[in-house]
Amino acid sequence: MPSTEFMEFKTLADIQGHFDIALDLLLNKENFSHGVWPYKLYQLEASCQYEKLGKRCAQQHQKGYVVSCTDGSVVLIGHCCAYKYLSLDDESVKAGFKQLDANQRQLIRRRKVESLLKKRQSYIEQGKALHMQHRDFQARITELSNAFPRQIWQKLIDRWKMNRLEVVWEYQITKTGTENGQKVVERSWYPSSYGKLIGLGAWLEWDHQTYAGQISDYRKQLELIPANDELTNAEIDHAEATLNNVAAITSLERELAALSKMMSDFVEPSNLVRTVQLTSNQAVRAETVVAVHRLTGETLAMTPERFIADIDVALKRKHEATGLRIQQ
Ligand SMILES: [Zn+2]
Repeated sequence: MPSTEFMEFKTLADIQGHFDIALDLLLNKENFSHGVWPYKLYQLEASCQYEKLGKRCAQQHQKGYVVSCTDGSVVLIGHCCAYKYLSLDDESVKAGFKQLDANQRQLIRRRKVESLLKKRQSYIEQGKALHMQHRDFQARITELSNAFPRQIWQKLIDRWKMNRLEVVWEYQITKTGTENGQKVVERSWYPSSYGKLIGLGAWLEWDHQTYAGQISDYRKQLELIPANDELTNAEIDHAEATLNNVAAITSLERELAALSKMMSDFVEPSNLVRTVQLTSNQAVRAETVVAVHRLTGETLAMTPERFIADIDVALKRKHEATGLRIQQ
C-alpha cells in the first residue's frame, strides 16, 4: 500500500491513484483496523463498503474515509457509517495521522513533492504563459487609460463601483399656452437612455505591480527547485512552499481571463461610444470622441464637435425638445 500524502482527494480516480482500494471487500467492526485519510469528492462516486446486516451499505457518497482493514487492505467508507459504527471523524483520522513518526511524515511530504515535481515543466510553462497574458493585459489597460480623458476614466470607475451603468440624458419639452388671457410656459424634463455600459470591472483599477510581482516571484521560486532526484529536507520545504502557490496562480489565471473578457466587452464600438455621453462638458466630450475613434480604429470623418452636435441634434429632433442635459 502506498503511503498516504497530504493531498486532498477530489475524485475517485485521485484516491485510486494513491491507494490500492479493495473495491469488493466489505468492512465491519471485526476486521476494522484504523482510519487512514479523509476525502471529500466533487461528485457522489464512492460506494460505501461498510457491511450492515450482512449486506454492503453501498451508499454513494462524496465525503468519507479511506479505512484500513486488519489485513492491511484498504476500503472506502462513507462518513455516515464511519461515524456511526467506527466513531471516525476528520479530527480523529487526522489526529491518528499526526501520530505517525517524523520520518514517516517527512517521507510522505517528499513523495508528495516528488509527485508534483513530475509536472514541474507544465508549471513553468503555465507561469510563463501567465506572465505574458498579464503583460498584454496591462498593456491594454494602459492603452485604454491613456486614451480617455482623466475625467471620463474616473467616471467609469465611479459608475462601476456604484453599479450605475445606464447612461441617461434628459430632454426638455416646452409647452406654451394661454390661461385667462395670459401666456403660460411649462417646461418638463424626460429621460432618454443611451443604454447600459458593459464590461466595467476590476480591470479599471488593476494593481499591475502586485500581480506582476506575484507571478515573477512564483516563476523564480519554481526555477530554484533543483532538478535532481534526491532533494534535501530544506529543498523539500522550499519546493513544498512553492508548489502550494500553484492553486493561487491558477486562480489568478482564471481571474485574468474573466477580466480580459470584460475588457473586450467594454471595447465593443457600440459600448465605447456611450462614454461620450458621460459628461456635459463639451471639451471633454470632444476629447472622448477622439479617444473612441482611436481605440476602435475608425476614422472620424468630421470634427469631434460636429460628432457631438449630431448626437444632440438627433435626440432633440426625435422629441422636438428645447433642451438637453445629462442625468446626474
Ligand atoms: Zn455506508
